[in-house]
Amino acid sequence: MARRGGGAAAALIALLAVLVFVVGRLMFRDARSIQALEAARVELQAKEARAQYLANHDVLTSLPNRAAFNRFVDGAAANLTQGAVAVLLIDLDKFKDVNDTLGHLAGDQLIQSVATRVSAHLPQGALLARLGGDEFAICLTEGLDEETLCTLAEACLASLRKPFPILGSEVLIGGSIGIAVGAPRSTDRTELLRKADIAMYCVKSSGRDGYRFFTVEMDESLANRRELEEDLRKALASGQELFVAYQPKMDASGETVVGLEALVRWDHPVKGLLTPDLFIPIAEEAGLIHALGTWVLKEACRVSKKWQGLMMAVNVSPVQFKAEGFASLVRSVVQRCGVDPRHIELEVTEGILLDDGQDVRSALHDLRAAGFRIALDDFGTGYSSLSYLKQFKVDRIKIDKSFIKRVGRDQEAIAIVQAVIALGHAMNLSVTAEGVETSEQGSLLRTVGCNELQGYLFSKALRESELSATLATVGGDRAINRQAS
Ligand code: C2E
Ligand code: CA
Ligand code: CA
Repeated sequence: MARRGGGAAAALIALLAVLVFVVGRLMFRDARSIQALEAARVELQAKEARAQYLANHDVLTSLPNRAAFNRFVDGAAANLTQGAVAVLLIDLDKFKDVNDTLGHLAGDQLIQSVATRVSAHLPQGALLARLGGDEFAICLTEGLDEETLCTLAEACLASLRKPFPILGSEVLIGGSIGIAVGAPRSTDRTELLRKADIAMYCVKSSGRDGYRFFTVEMDESLANRRELEEDLRKALASGQELFVAYQPKMDASGETVVGLEALVRWDHPVKGLLTPDLFIPIAEEAGLIHALGTWVLKEACRVSKKWQGLMMAVNVSPVQFKAEGFASLVRSVVQRCGVDPRHIELEVTEGILLDDGQDVRSALHDLRAAGFRIALDDFGTGYSSLSYLKQFKVDRIKIDKSFIKRVGRDQEAIAIVQAVIALGHAMNLSVTAEGVETSEQGSLLRTVGCNELQGYLFSKALRESELSATLATVGGDRAINRQAS
């Protein structure tokens, strides 16, 4: 009996041990699952925080992004009981050049350095954001008097003008800033940003590197621009209102016409006769310059066939020149018109040379190889670096009329012109002076060795129908004799 009782106890103990083991295992498993659960929760939280961060920040600069900026402006506007909100929209100048020439890595580094520099000027309570690309914005709710805002804009611009050391190069950029101040209680973010954008755009189109406050007139001029763009689109389609005028170019003696420059004009049905300075920039911006430029080239070719002994100069916008396939387009247009490329001179501005791109170099090379001559227009207004001329072969330089205007008035001007001519000749280039208005300028320029003269002293740009009559008086019989029968 006692043995049976002992066996039952042992069985009970064994059962208990199993129970303790099972419960222990279960408890251990629970602890592990709780730990795993906790870890997952922490990880999730971190992921959430990261997602939250990414939703509000720009990864490259760690600045708030556009969404965060929008919320900040909305919040600032909503909380206003008095005062106002101001936005400074900062767009970098020449950023694309850095990206194109030094690569995206350099572009990224530049954006980061810009963020650091601009942040250093940020007043208390203001927010700096990167809206995207090379566009930054500051929102302020305090210190909105004009003087304080001007000081802030100037400080930002000064820091952007200083050279940026990027990947072993010194990069020079600059910035354009548009400023808009919202009215108390009625600030609408979209409207505020639109106004800052228009003001910034005004800075860009008037030479960059500066700041402007939005004004109502800016809105009006934008509306005018849009209207003109639409009208130009229609004029190009109808072919009715545009025409080309031709300004004679003289040899050094000023007696013989050696060429014509094709200058486009627009007979606007409401606004009257418009000069190209008014509509070429619009055409460039709206992408209409390609159609306009091709149309002018065709017209110039048609007239060139009538005046075969004269070199026909045609202006080419940098926007056209940089477009893919430009050289072959020009070649085929001229060929289809049945004109010898050696009778066509393409006038380009220094803007295209700054690009330093292989495309521009090879387009220039292609065109010269096909027989076209290339003239560098407006020489003296831009970078005027003769060193560009070593890299980019051209045939002629045209000294800008702003220089020629000073000839005969101040000694320095003729000395500069003389130096340019000497350098040009040393590089085997022909030199033209444009904007010659007085006979004194004409004879001074002749004395210093200018090859060609152009200006009102000889003739203004003429309608096609006026060419025969005027060329007879300006250039004498020699020009007329060149007219193809
Ligand atoms: P540009 O190429 O420098 O053309 C010379 C400008 O100076 C012309 O103005 C001409 O009329 C003016 N001019 C000529 N002689 C004198 C003078 O003695 N004194 C003064 N003060 N001015 C003189 P325009 O025709 O108004 O053309 C202005 C600019 O528009 C041109 O400057 C050229 O850059 C551009 N342009 C004209 N036609 C075309 C075109 O078909 N395509 C492109 N892309 N640009 C064009
Ligand atoms: Ca020209
Ligand atoms: Ca010119």
